[in-house]
Amino acid sequence: MSSQDTPSIASVFTGKRVLLDSQSSVGPATIHVDGRGKIARIEPTYSPSLATFDAGDALLMPGLVDGHVHINQPGRTQWEGVVTASHAAAAGGVTTIIDMPLNCIPSTVTAEAYALKRDSFRQGMWVDVGTWGGVVPGNAGDLAPMLEAGARGFKCFLCDSGVDEFPPVDEAQLRLAMTQLAEHKGLIMFHAEMDTGASVDAAQDPTLYSTFLDSRPPAMEVRAIDLVIKMCREFAPRVPCHIVHLSAADALPAIRAAKAEGLPLTVETCFHYLTLSAEAVPSRSTEYKCCPPIRQQANCDLLWEAVLDGTIDFVVSDHSPCTPDLKLHACCGGKIPEAAVEGDFVKAWGGIASVGIGLPLLWTEGRRRGLTLQDVVRLVCERTAVHSGLKDRKGRIAVGMDADFVVWQPEEENRITADKLHFRNKLTPYQERECVGLVHQTVVRGTTVYDITKPDDEAEWENSFSKLPHGQWLDSPITLRY
Ligand SMILES: [Zn+2]
Repeated sequence: MSSQDTPSIASVFTGKRVLLDSQSSVGPATIHVDGRGKIARIEPTYSPSLATFDAGDALLMPGLVDGHVHINQPGRTQWEGVVTASHAAAAGGVTTIIDMPLNCIPSTVTAEAYALKRDSFRQGMWVDVGTWGGVVPGNAGDLAPMLEAGARGFKCFLCDSGVDEFPPVDEAQLRLAMTQLAEHKGLIMFHAEMDTGASVDAAQDPTLYSTFLDSRPPAMEVRAIDLVIKMCREFAPRVPCHIVHLSAADALPAIRAAKAEGLPLTVETCFHYLTLSAEAVPSRSTEYKCCPPIRQQANCDLLWEAVLDGTIDFVVSDHSPCTPDLKLHACCGGKIPEAAVEGDFVKAWGGIASVGIGLPLLWTEGRRRGLTLQDVVRLVCERTAVHSGLKDRKGRIAVGMDADFVVWQPEEENRITADKLHFRNKLTPYQERECVGLVHQTVVRGTTVYDITKPDDEAEWENSFSKLPHGQWLDSPITLRY
């Protein structure tokens, strides 16, 4: 190999506690990174004298990949935007986020809309960002062009999505789309809730969480997941199917059976379904509202079993914020419209803000249930990277992979205070929550983009963030699992 083929080493990371992947144990390592931000060499020693970055006693592991984030740009940037979303991600050790195709305007359902989003994100990405495309009625012909442009796969709804620009598909429309995806090797993801005739009981108090919860029973998820499995079987093995944000444990038996049958089916759940419960939602606290809903503690315990036994493949945020007025929330500057009731769970927008705070949430709850650091890497780094078609670049620390790292102290106490929330609208159920696990630095392709030790007045730093964005748009070819 000539010297031209071997880019020179640009930075060297070392630590006493490095976790390379979910199959390794924690131990010393020194990681050499080339000028393209790729890992060139790894040595099993702690070598501070060689290093440009010394993690010391902190844990250095792969950066998180969050495959389910609503950035809402372009079109609804008062809800969120790429600068604030990627700052929040960086502050939480999340080095890759994949944006959802809805809640932005236009929704990402054509190659033109895909290009609009990509161009609008330019210069605003503090971490690497990609996007999913959407399947809506009538756009089957748009799927292949979006895949070619770099969309990571596709999402569809089997019930009302909450926004008019992203209508749900019926079985016939789904079949049309999946026929296209079978030809072009695309992944399809389902918001798995279907109407079962359940509705809001007008006699119940809308400011009580139970009123909303009763209107979205587990049967809605079970019904949708039965259809997902049927379609998955019809197109197997050519179209991998994925269930986003599973909440209802009632659907686990059908999922276990489908997986045992060998169907190409994967499932994610979210930090909120694993760390919050219906019994503890205060009245009027619409920051807890999302669809499908957070259910009872007994349901949460069953989801944890499925996470630990591998039935649930990975965990994402489903970060989906909006302005406080749409949450019908008077705090954070929210104005309650006339004739509306403050804290009306039925009328409030559904969605939980949480990008970048998942690591301490998952770790704090998980470690008392037997979750290991290796499990954490598997659930929020490796499997989410594979899911996003980034198996060859992200999710593990290995030669040839992007040098994306989170450096954190798993034992350090961390109260989630407002100053630690970097997304645009700070309304979240996690404010003031006591956790363990604090992120100290975040590294994207060899460059540190977040560092809590940097003073504000340093030339290249502001508020612990690098002044310049180092994120890239992710349009590299997709490596499917099947
Ligand atoms: Zn979502």
